Amino acid sequence: PERVFSGIQPTGNLHLGNYLGALIKFVALQESHDCVFSVVDLHAITMPQEPGALINQTRQIAAAFLAAGIDPDKSVVFAQSSVRAHTELTWYFNCVARMGWLERMTQFKEKAGKDKERASVGLFDYPVLQAADILAYKATHVPVGEDQKQHLELSRDIAERFNREYDRPGFFPQPEPLIQGPGARIMSLKDGSKKMSKSDPSDLSRINLTDDADTMARKIKKAKTDPEPLPETLDELKTRPEAENLVGIYAALSGETSEAVLARFAGQGFGVFKPALSEVVVESLAPVTQKYNEWLAAPGDIDAVLAKGAERATAIAEPVMEEVRDIIGFWKAG
Ligand code: ATP
Ligand code: MG
Repeated sequence: PERVFSGIQPTGNLHLGNYLGALIKFVALQESHDCVFSVVDLHAITMPQEPGALINQTRQIAAAFLAAGIDPDKSVVFAQSSVRAHTELTWYFNCVARMGWLERMTQFKEKAGKDKERASVGLFDYPVLQAADILAYKATHVPVGEDQKQHLELSRDIAERFNREYDRPGFFPQPEPLIQGPGARIMSLKDGSKKMSKSDPSDLSRINLTDDADTMARKIKKAKTDPEPLPETLDELKTRPEAENLVGIYAALSGETSEAVLARFAGQGFGVFKPALSEVVVESLAPVTQKYNEWLAAPGDIDAVLAKGAERATAIAEPVMEEVRDIIGFWKAG
């Protein structure tokens, strides 16, 4: 069967972008695929993290998976650091990936900022760890937001090069992206050219799954827009990134197309559109937030899910790793 792998970093509050670009897609995929969903804490430490905060954030992301509707009896839900294959395979892949490939990754450039010399080697190596995440399970499909497309291409290059270098055609599959429909890239509420991010220092830039209804409405009210009323056509909308983003959010949550939303709101100003949007956002997220809080009130239950998930994940990855060690030619006790 086709296998899906995807992960979310425990780097802060989950937001509407994670919900639309990742969580609700994960939930749908459980019906058609064998799914492995990870809280990727190894990725999180590519930027500084407080140890005490990290463990709580790991439980929080797990709680969000469960609250969104991921069924831990069906899908594997686990913390990345609890399965050794991720770090081990990263090393092997480090020796397969080329510096030039990594130097082209735009996320590193964005996250490292101006002073690249001071960025961690881990941040540079992030996409190799991502390749290991996917390929340790021989996953064939990866649902990711638009922001991760370049990294997934790198995973394909690494898989191909490993297969070629060790003369094992087809050993690692070429993972395919699953980027569909609205929600693939939700932008910051403060800047239509930047994606909505957990690690954006401005809380006003995103709607968090944990925000209460008033906070959500206040953030939408304060969202950056232009003074024009909403246009008639998608072509006109495309020239206005902030307006396009808000219409896109409305469409993704209400299950309509952006055209249909425009048909209803064209000619209206944001004074009308923003309250309507707030209503849709609050209504869609309220049930998730409620279940999320219920899970958080039972950390022991979250830990039980993660423990079982670690066992199931190891059972898939370890046989792959045994074969990889063999292919590379490492000694083992006979
Ligand atoms: P960070 O700022 O720490 O990188 P993030 O908000 O980018 O956090 P990730 O944990 O890196 O979140 O990504 C989790 C998943 O959410 C990935 O599948 C990613 O593609 C998706 N995602 C992240 N941001 C958005 C967004 N703005 N719109 C749609 N999908 C998104
Ligand atoms: Mg990210």
